[in-house]
Amino acid sequence: MEISNGGIDNTGSIITIKGMLSLLMQSVDDEKNEKKVISLAMGDPTVHSCFHTTHVATEAVAEALLSEKFNGYAPTAGLPLTRRAIAEYLSRDLPYKLTPNDVFVTSGCTQAIDVAMALLSRPGANILLPRPGFPIYELSAAFRHIEVRHFDLLPDKGWEVDLDDIESLADQNTVALVIINPGNPCGNVYSYQHLQKIAETANKLKTLVIADEVYGHLVFGDKLFVPMGVFGSTVPILTLGSLSKRWIVPGWRLGWFVTTDPCGMFRKPKVVERMKKYFDILGGPATFIQAAVPSILQQPDEVFFKKTLNLLKQSVDICYNKIKEIPCISCPHKPEGSMAVMLKLNLSLLDDIIDDIDFCFKLAKEESVIILPGTAVGLKNWLRVTFAVDPYSLEECLDRIKSFYQRHAKQLQRY
Ligand SMILES: *Cc1c(COP(=O)(O)O)cnc(C)c1O
Repeated sequence: MEISNGGIDNTGSIITIKGMLSLLMQSVDDEKNEKKVISLAMGDPTVHSCFHTTHVATEAVAEALLSEKFNGYAPTAGLPLTRRAIAEYLSRDLPYKLTPNDVFVTSGCTQAIDVAMALLSRPGANILLPRPGFPIYELSAAFRHIEVRHFDLLPDKGWEVDLDDIESLADQNTVALVIINPGNPCGNVYSYQHLQKIAETANKLKTLVIADEVYGHLVFGDKLFVPMGVFGSTVPILTLGSLSKRWIVPGWRLGWFVTTDPCGMFRKPKVVERMKKYFDILGGPATFIQAAVPSILQQPDEVFFKKTLNLLKQSVDICYNKIKEIPCISCPHKPEGSMAVMLKLNLSLLDDIIDDIDFCFKLAKEESVIILPGTAVGLKNWLRVTFAVDPYSLEECLDRIKSFYQRHAKQLQRY
């Protein structure tokens, strides 16, 4: 039996991060290796006890559940009180006010991505995605038969978007361009000016912008977080986000799909009708988790936020400094936000390593260290490291990578 669409299924060629990680885990040599496995590849910091959500959030969920008022279905677009709370939360950083009708509650940011793809798909459509990027976009686009075109992020310019690339890739069938800010996998944070240029470019090309702000406010460098929605009057924007990263609760599956579009392009009756119908298929996340959202968003636990940012900053510093001791790896841009960084691999300094995938599999086998090869996020011979790891494990990991390098370093020729 074939469950694909007339032989044009192209999902098979896409490696998901989870798929790659399970292959890497299998190659850890348990028998020869007494070292504990440490992963710098997972996007889930809850495995490290130092990354712990705030009691404000857990108490809000417990209270909602114990009230027994939220055991029924919610409207499929989300509970009205949840939509209002998200609208108010996002409006704090915007020059205009969002309404509850602009907000649709999703099962994490992952589902918000898939909703965007479903709503934008039509015959011949293409979408512009960043390289390196977040592979869920490629996978979701493939299921919707939306053609993917990649534009580069520029490592020497703080991973800014290559706007010339965007102009040359877009045509009348381009339905959107995707921006991830703060960035995964690069740890970039875009300036107001750069976001403005992106908005102007999108407007010129008559395409909308999907702003993945799942790491919104997780910034610890010199730049402030500016939401793309600030430029909603220049170009219509779909803002995607969730509680997962800032509140460190990825398992709660509470996200949002928001039309940040003060000019009202998404408020046309036909568009609204179509969006509503699509949400009827999805059904929405658990009602009691939705009911906890107002308490969580209205009582920002600043001590908790500060603690998380300090931890991330400390991890980035460890990472950045330790990497300087490993000649075959370099970091072109120190992360200013999110939880991930791209590191460049210099294969000419290594003796028996063919590429980034080979590097990661040998590293897993010999040192029980799991790192994601850059190929999995679109950049060959780079590495993606997640630094939302407790500082001791991170140091240990980087020490192991250093000894791996020393064992595989190309021997200098003697004359
Ligand atoms: C983690 C992540 C998501 C998915 O978020 P969930 O709320 O866990 O579904 C989406 N986009 C990016 C860039 C991410 O890093």
